[in-house]
Amino acid sequence: MITVIRIGHRPFRDKRITTHVALVSRAFGADSILVDEKDETLENTVNRVTENFGGNFSIKSGVNWKKEFRDFKGVRVNLSMYGVNVDDRIENIRMATEGKDMIILVGAEKVPIDAYNIADFNIAISNQPHSEVSALAMFLDRFYKGKELEKKYEGKMNVIPMDHGKLVKFIPDEQQSMKILYESGADERIISHVTTVYNLSMAMGRYANADMKLIAAGSLLHDIGRTKTNGISHAVAGADLLREKNIDELIVRIVERHTGAGILPEEAKKLGLPDRNYIPETLEEKIVAQADNLVSGKNIVTLAETLERYKLQGLEEPAKRIKKLQEELSKACGKELDEIAMELNN
Ligand code: SAM
Repeated sequence: MITVIRIGHRPFRDKRITTHVALVSRAFGADSILVDEKDETLENTVNRVTENFGGNFSIKSGVNWKKEFRDFKGVRVNLSMYGVNVDDRIENIRMATEGKDMIILVGAEKVPIDAYNIADFNIAISNQPHSEVSALAMFLDRFYKGKELEKKYEGKMNVIPMDHGKLVKFIPDEQQSMKILYESGADERIISHVTTVYNLSMAMGRYANADMKLIAAGSLLHDIGRTKTNGISHAVAGADLLREKNIDELIVRIVERHTGAGILPEEAKKLGLPDRNYIPETLEEKIVAQADNLVSGKNIVTLAETLERYKLQGLEEPAKRIKKLQEELSKACGKELDEIAMELNN
């Protein structure tokens, strides 16, 4: 674990640069930042970035820097133009941090002499004066040998790298999902159905330790295609509609694969659906599909009732797959899905 400690922060003067120190910490592989002066605005700004762009980065302001730095259990690094050049010490730091945590101190104006005396390593990124932002970025990059740039973040906003133009895919929260539904013309029948599917999916998701932000958006949006058609192609219509709105593929696939317990390629061909994958693969795709199977209109029904409905329509094979999915998810939840559904009904 790597902690950055930022000292000498003056909330009025340094707002932007301390924000940048925090953002560099987060983007270049540190796990948390401590800031000496209390600054709630700064905390909110950084937390919002983490919430939107992902990861587990944390920020705490209003700490006693000397105590935090001195009592830190691990390796203490002070970044300073008066230190030893990074390339002459980075191997020693890598060795010293094996199996240990590290704290990296950066200053603002004049750094008190105590920081130099407490540090295990005073490290310079050249002995020329420049900035805590660049010093921190270069130090972390040297420490991780550039590997920090490969880290994957799964946030609500995901940047799709582009040579030209810009594209950000996003995972809407509950409020945003409802807004998308209403803007697309969803009527009360759709809203009441997706609300029940949402409640059941969320309950199942909690038992199965699923990604709840995917479950929330996926379940609320799974039937958005019904604003276009009520036929078998409503899942495709919904997926296409969401792709146009730059909704993340993780959500789009939940929508596209929610029919029954999935549609096999040969069935899809017969039904005249475009050549795509309609089999739910991720835990979240499976949960939303099955929750939908266990909801009729706005009511939760039992698996037996659902299977009966399928069989009456001559859909024996899809019914078998729904039964199998029920078993798989009951195992993943550590509880029978019918029981989870019953808890919600009571
Ligand atoms: N003159 C100040 C002092 O007495 O330490 C430094 C002020 S400088 C604007 C703010 C911070 O940037 C420093 O505390 C240090 O963390 C970082 N910094 C600036 N130049 C650096 C360098 N060449 N190498 C490493 N860190 C540097």
